[in-house]
Amino acid sequence: MAYDPASGVLRSRTLTLSYEIPVSKIARFWEALAEGKVLGTVCKKCGRKMFPPQAVCDKCHSTDIDWFEIKSVGEVVAFTHIVVRPASFQDQKVYTPAIAEFKEEGVRVLAWVAPEVPKRQIKVGMKVRVEPRIEDNRRTWVFVPAE
Ligand SMILES: [Zn+2]
Repeated sequence: MAYDPASGVLRSRTLTLSYEIPVSKIARFWEALAEGKVLGTVCKKCGRKMFPPQAVCDKCHSTDIDWFEIKSVGEVVAFTHIVVRPASFQDQKVYTPAIAEFKEEGVRVLAWVAPEVPKRQIKVGMKVRVEPRIEDNRRTWVFVPAE
């Protein structure tokens, strides 16, 4: 700990967090992001569509799963601006997770709104597309205005 008497601040050690999450059963999703596609899964047994992709149907528990691309225009149904960021996101500026409904595909998608979108432009009802991105060597997906 380092105490700075001029500012009256006690600065802790820098935290570095890293997660390892096994994703081999949904590896196709991460491969598709690099190909410019965002995929969800659909259960071949009961027809349930899922995002983020699941290897096991969360309705009927079948493992007979297929893939579909989310490429239509969705509509933001909820969002929030995160000002007080958790430790693992301290290097981010204020960011905006949102949920958008994609009626054509039949799924709701959770994603951050792209950082270049002005915060005052983000509204419930905003039309968006979901777009793959590579940020800090990590594959991710964001919402961008559909216009
Ligand atoms: Zn199912």
